[in-house]
Amino acid sequence: MKPKDYRTALEPVWCTGCGDFGVLKALTQSLADLEVPVEKLALISGIGCSSRLPGYVRSYAFNSVHGRALPIATGVKLARPEMTTVVVGGDGDGFSIGLGHIPHCVRRDVDLTYAVLDNGIYGLTKGQASPTTDPDLKRELGLAGAAERPLNPVLMLLGSGCGFVARTHAGNLPHLRAMLREAIRYPGFAFVHVLAACVTYQPGTYAESLWKRCTMIPDEHDPASFERAIELARAERFMLGVLYRRPPDQRPATAGPETMENAGIWPPVGATSESAYPG
Ligand code: SF4
Repeated sequence: MKPKDYRTALEPVWCTGCGDFGVLKALTQSLADLEVPVEKLALISGIGCSSRLPGYVRSYAFNSVHGRALPIATGVKLARPEMTTVVVGGDGDGFSIGLGHIPHCVRRDVDLTYAVLDNGIYGLTKGQASPTTDPDLKRELGLAGAAERPLNPVLMLLGSGCGFVARTHAGNLPHLRAMLREAIRYPGFAFVHVLAACVTYQPGTYAESLWKRCTMIPDEHDPASFERAIELARAERFMLGVLYRRPPDQRPATAGPETMENAGIWPPVGATSESAYPG
């Protein structure tokens, strides 16, 4: 299939110039690269501008409940482990109301790709501060909580023990495509931090300044080095690339869907593994 074959007939309602367009394009390109059949693809989102994305991709799509995309995707993966399951959402959806779900998906190492399209603002509800809003931007826009420091998503995910952590920018399509492809291929919970400016509720220069603060991770970086990944995550600039990929021999013994069975969460009482995984 070609990237355009993954698109539904729906036209995106995003504002012209929104970074989410780049993610839609790069996601369909990465799915075509990996030859993922649409009948084996589930796209799950929460609520927000970026959470509209599943409606534009041919898949078992679910634009679900605010902040609850990860538990719903976990259920999809448990019921249908053969599905390639990708979760998309924004910084407000994922790092505010939905934040509590992240470490649990990480420690269970559910085989999901979680792409957070981070514009540092609540776009759908017209520009309130989110957990990643830059303090300077808050002051400039007169938003509440100007002195509150923003979350560092990649540092947070590394600290939670996530086995794959990458960062990219919606304005660099080849890089975005490669990062999404790598994340989908990773056999476990993979996090991709996508910097994507909101052209409507952020001042005109903000998108440009965001881009200027980005730097590619040097080629010599070894993504197997957790210590070096932490240094990159703490850097002043936004380092783009794969910060960390856990080597296969260091995966926890219980990682993967079998974690649920080991913990006694799955299959449900009265069911066997065979009956809980039909087909
Ligand atoms: Fe994109 Fe911002 Fe428009 Fe939402 S409000 S669609 S984030 S540009």
